[in-house]
Formats: sequence, C-alpha cells, structure tokens
Amino acid sequence: MTSESKYCRNCGAQVTNKYCENCGQRTSVYKVSFKETINDFIDAAFSLNAPLFITLKQLVVNPGIVLREYLEGKRKKYYKPVAFFILTTVAYLVIRSAIGFDPFTDTVVQVENTQNNQLLTKARDFMLFNINKLLFIFVFTLALFSKLFFSKRYTLAEYLAISFYLTGIYTLFTTLNLFLVVWVSKEMQLLGIFVMLVYFIYAMTSFIKTNKIVIIIKSLIVFFPISPM
Ligand SMILES: [Zn+2]
Repeated sequence: MTSESKYCRNCGAQVTNKYCENCGQRTSVYKVSFKETINDFIDAAFSLNAPLFITLKQLVVNPGIVLREYLEGKRKKYYKPVAFFILTTVAYLVIRSAIGFDPFTDTVVQVENTQNNQLLTKARDFMLFNINKLLFIFVFTLALFSKLFFSKRYTLAEYLAISFYLTGIYTLFTTLNLFLVVWVSKEMQLLGIFVMLVYFIYAMTSFIKTNKIVIIIKSLIVFFPISPM
C-alpha cells in the first residue's frame, strides 16, 4: 500500500501525512494494543507535555497566561475548563470519602437542640447532598460577578470558562487542605478560604493587566459574596 492510497481510520478522509488533515488522528493506527493503551495513559497522565500537566502547572505558576491564551484560541494546548473542573471535583469527593471527612459536623454539634440547629442541620444535609450542584452555582455566580465587575471586553461565556479553571484550582486546594483539617485542626478550613482569596486576587491581577490596585479591590468585591461556599 503506497502512502497516497491510505485512508484515515477515524473519519475516512484520504491521508498523506503522519496525522489526518481532516480530523487530526494519527494515520498509523491499527488494532488496539496493550502498548498503545499504556502509552496513551502515560501520555495523558504523566507526560510533561500533556495538556493536564501544563494546565495545572501554569494555573499555579502563571494563571494569566493560561486564561489569556485559552481565550485567544490555544484550545488544544490546555486541558478543557469544564473537564478540569469535573476532574478536580471527582478528586475532592473521592479523597473526602476516603478519609471519612464531613466538612459540616463540627460547626453543628455546638448548637444542639435549638431551632437554629435544625435549620443548620437541614442546610448542612442539603449542602452535602448537593455539593456538585452547589459548585456549579458557585461557578456561574463567580462568572456573573466577574462579568459585572471586571473588564467588559470579555463575554459572560469567557468568564464562565475562567471560573471553571479557577474553581478547579479552588477545589484542588480544598482537597489538599482536607489533610490539614483532619490531621491538624478544623480551623484549617478557614485557611482554605484564605488561600483561595489570595489565589483569586493573584489570578485576576495576572489575567487583567490594568491598574493592580483596582483589580485587587474588584477581586475582593467579587470574592466575598460567594466565599461562604
Ligand atoms: Zn481523519
């Protein structure tokens, strides 16, 4: 078989190069093998060039670059915002249940047998059972507030993508913080909120390169109404 007569195994388009010009799949694809599956897994999970690793590293080191480049069109380089958010949420839920931590127990125990307590318990149960939905509400609220207060040149949809990234990092901090909360003290939950606030200010000042003081004040305004989450 000469290279001119090859067809893409994914979309059927005629291919002449290493990758299909129509869909981007490798042209040298044959039967699924263990080697290919293992290589794909290693590529996706551990490779320094994998979108997940680059996205994670850059969101911590220089969030502004990820946010600007993603919005400007570098979609393939980075792990998708919603996928990133889902991955970190799953990691949080898995680790939380693995170490058997209930984030709301401690605050409720002290006000036993009062009317307030019943309300708190109900609120707590609601939050525990709806944590995924609440995180989604958090993401949308963050996007809406960002659109209202920060640069108007970005659309609500763009702020939504940013919110998914930033909430993903928030969830990751919260996941790591679980270990401190369990092994050191419950008060460490406040540390989680504080770290997120600092990160949010850091991310927004690195994303929007105008007056730093203005961005810091706006970050505080946007963050505080939604921080009790
Ligand atoms: Zn193709």
